[in-house]
Amino acid sequence: MDKEYIKKLAKDPRFIPGIYNYCDRWCERCAFTSRCMNYVLSEEDFDNPQSQDISNKAFWDKLHEIFKVTLEMVKETAEEMGIDLNAIDREEIDRQTEQVHKTAKEQLYCQVALSYIKKVDSWFDSNKGLLENKADELQTLAQADIPDTRPADEAVKIQDCFEVIRWYQHQIYVKLCRAASANVRGELADFEYSPEDANGSAKVAIIGIERSIAAWGGLLNQFPDQEQSILELLAHLKNLLRRVEEAFQDAQSFVRPGFDQPDWDS
Ligand code: SF4
Repeated sequence: MDKEYIKKLAKDPRFIPGIYNYCDRWCERCAFTSRCMNYVLSEEDFDNPQSQDISNKAFWDKLHEIFKVTLEMVKETAEEMGIDLNAIDREEIDRQTEQVHKTAKEQLYCQVALSYIKKVDSWFDSNKGLLENKADELQTLAQADIPDTRPADEAVKIQDCFEVIRWYQHQIYVKLCRAASANVRGELADFEYSPEDANGSAKVAIIGIERSIAAWGGLLNQFPDQEQSILELLAHLKNLLRRVEEAFQDAQSFVRPGFDQPDWDS
């Protein structure tokens, strides 16, 4: 990987500019992999088991290379824009950035999203036996081959609900912190403010919340005995959704590159 190659790729018309900025990073389920420069670069960079293994030196060497190239590109862009990076007061920037992150994390919707993470872990910890019993039950049904039952389909649906819940469990919080940080920056006079980034990040969080609500609804059908605990999680998510929509009233109308643009096909 080198910066000239990245610059060349960035001009390739098959890629949708910035699509990876407001996606959910679930590349395995993304319909736009062939239109995403980030995906293509990742596939090229991490193209063997060693480079995909976090405990392998090859992974860290590759990451080091990516950071090095990124830094080179930042320096080059700064130079083109007439910005002297050495003249920047790094300590002051660090102090302000820390303040932004701290204030962002204090927003009530971030707190609610953080407590959702813990509630989900707690639900899965408390229901390990229940899930194993369900797997046994479906396996028995499959072996019995009873007409008009579809245990394999049910197992796939349950697995999908688990995957959706786990995928968004932490991401909702992370995206909301990013959205909140953009808003907090807007309130500080010296910071560059990006309402687009706030709304785009909030929209990704909203999508994650809505998909999680649907997934918990799917589990509610499968585990009626767990009605109380699942309804509590659903109420928590709906409360979070209401707070996020109140805080980011333009998020729903934010147009995510590619995903919300019907002119781009996958
Ligand atoms: S746009 Fe799709 S392929 Fe690209 S990073 Fe996001 S999820 Fe992955």
